[in-house]
Amino acid sequence: MLQSHLSHFIRKEAPKDEEAYNAQILIRAGFIDKLMAGVYTFLPLGLRVLHHIECIVRDEMNALGAQEVLMPVLHPRENWQQTGRWDSLDVLFKVIARDKKEYALGPTHEEIVVPVAQRAIFSYKDLPMALYQIQTKFRDEARAKSGLLRGREFLMKDLYSFHTDEADLEMYYQRAIVAYTTIFKRLGLDALLVEASGGTFSKFSHEFQVQVASGEDRIVYCAVCQFAQNREINEAQDGDACPTCGKPLTVVAASEVGNIFQLKTKYSDPFKLQYTDHAGTSHAVIMGCYGIGISRLMGIIAELFHDEKGLLWPASVAPFQAHLLAIVPADEAQKKDILAKAQGVYDRLRAEGIEVLYDDREGISAGEKFAESDLIGIPVRLVVSAKTGERVEFKERAKPDASQVDFSFITQYFKA
Ligand code: ATP
Ligand code: MG
Repeated sequence: MLQSHLSHFIRKEAPKDEEAYNAQILIRAGFIDKLMAGVYTFLPLGLRVLHHIECIVRDEMNALGAQEVLMPVLHPRENWQQTGRWDSLDVLFKVIARDKKEYALGPTHEEIVVPVAQRAIFSYKDLPMALYQIQTKFRDEARAKSGLLRGREFLMKDLYSFHTDEADLEMYYQRAIVAYTTIFKRLGLDALLVEASGGTFSKFSHEFQVQVASGEDRIVYCAVCQFAQNREINEAQDGDACPTCGKPLTVVAASEVGNIFQLKTKYSDPFKLQYTDHAGTSHAVIMGCYGIGISRLMGIIAELFHDEKGLLWPASVAPFQAHLLAIVPADEAQKKDILAKAQGVYDRLRAEGIEVLYDDREGISAGEKFAESDLIGIPVRLVVSAKTGERVEFKERAKPDASQVDFSFITQYFKA
């Protein structure tokens, strides 16, 4: 993409009422724009990052054998009354239509996916089945002060699985844990698998938590045996003995990137979602649900991967693979030469299938281009200038040193 065609959303300062670092830097670097607390626009660069996160999640969901659907955001009140959550869910956004009927804006989709599944589940032959979506959720959050970490409108992946029995659910649940682990690794994140609640229930619900200073959760964690529990249910202090291996525990700040539950018949019962077995006897369908905070992940990545100059995107989610800068001199003849060379590099990169943002803008100083490139944080910077001759300057955003390379080096680098 030509940077001259990319609107300049970069700002000197983030809005004064924005407290969260992730939102501050993403606004300054032109990835998002704030509409109000907990509600953001994803600008062209930000949307590319969001899409890359989505693609990784979608890949692993498809590998799990789940089918992608897209359910409505607008829900009839009746579905939420069926489970009792119309009154009990404090974050439920409710809207009133012109005929005075009430609706909910979906904060999660058990109340919708169960009736959908009912259309295709009749006998044991229709199971197991798994449906997922990547969709905007609405929650009337009390404290929407953490930028993308806690939106009132945010993007989630939610997966729902349907089984004949608990053993089959347990098998799928274990496969989902493996898929989630792969997803977070591909995103460049170290996610802890955390027991979400204590006692015997703990093995039926887990959170995936990423250590981040601004995270709202506190995790009791053992670096030796990986024991991890949410502080909400475990009152351990720093230095207490790990219940599993006896080594000292630490309490760390973290943010929940995923949450998985064995719902069993919690939602199939109220909707009478049943199947018939070999003998024709009816049973309740056994369910699991599995969420991932797609937009929260983008915020966490921004919190973790930056330096004083700007963002440092992991290659798997970066808006582009390479940022090519033409340092355009004022002299007309020289200008033509540099722009032609840079255009040649741009064309060859694209022919190699490398996603590149080409800063072809004239009348912008080298210093300004470098500063903006560091702020945006694309993993590789390539420079064509009066100094680079037939070669290209190559620099990784995360490393201090630049070097002069041939084009073949660049293609090799991206193939590796
Ligand atoms: P939290 O404990 O952080 O409030 P939750 O347990 O209510 O989250 P789930 O209903 O399990 O969240 O949603 C699945 C995932 O969606 C969470 O693991 C989290 O990554 C993400 N998520 C939940 N609420 C928000 C929000 N307000 N803004 C952004 N992401 C969210
Ligand atoms: Mg949760």
